[in-house]
Amino acid sequence: MKEKIKESAKKDCCVACGVETEYYDTTHIDARRFYIEGAGQLCKDCFEKIINEKRGKEEGRPTMRIVGIIGPYFSSGDRRSIDYNIANAQFIAIRIAEFFSDSKLIGFFCPHSHTARFEKLANAKEEYYHTLDDAIYDSACEIFVLLPGWEDSKGSVRDVKRAKERKRRFFLLKDYSVENIRFLLQGMERWARRKMEDERIELRNGGQ
Ligand SMILES: [Zn+2]
Repeated sequence: MKEKIKESAKKDCCVACGVETEYYDTTHIDARRFYIEGAGQLCKDCFEKIINEKRGKEEGRPTMRIVGIIGPYFSSGDRRSIDYNIANAQFIAIRIAEFFSDSKLIGFFCPHSHTARFEKLANAKEEYYHTLDDAIYDSACEIFVLLPGWEDSKGSVRDVKRAKERKRRFFLLKDYSVENIRFLLQGMERWARRKMEDERIELRNGGQ
């Protein structure tokens, strides 16, 4: 009996490009991946292309998600404090780049190194940088890392309030120990993978 089913079952082809998929036409849709109800079975490539299109409404938009780094910049305002804060923030940006170098799941926006030393190099008002950071944080950053000492930084408290109003998620870094940085990176990776999976399920159910 089992043999008979196997003989008569054909493999489904991708409804977009026509390539043969790994699924037999007898396989229940709950047991399939890359299937969209109302459309049909897709191959992995076409499925991912559609996810990208749905997310970015434009072909080829990277699936990388951006984390915003929030932490003290000026502190007591002397050169040593400012350079210390820039170095710490940049260190976390570097660790993110290294950790996600292959998967490309997460990228970052680090205002500290983006406009490092601009308070000396450029002749622009401080408010200009606040507006610049807001614009990038708001449009690009889905999650935020809070660096040690953020509570004592007026600018950071302001950034956190703004991100909270926009229902963004936070990851808190308690200190710069190797363990806590690894913990932070792994937490962000889990978040990014879950997000990706959620989008697949949404797509399968035809949700928005
Ligand atoms: Zn295809």
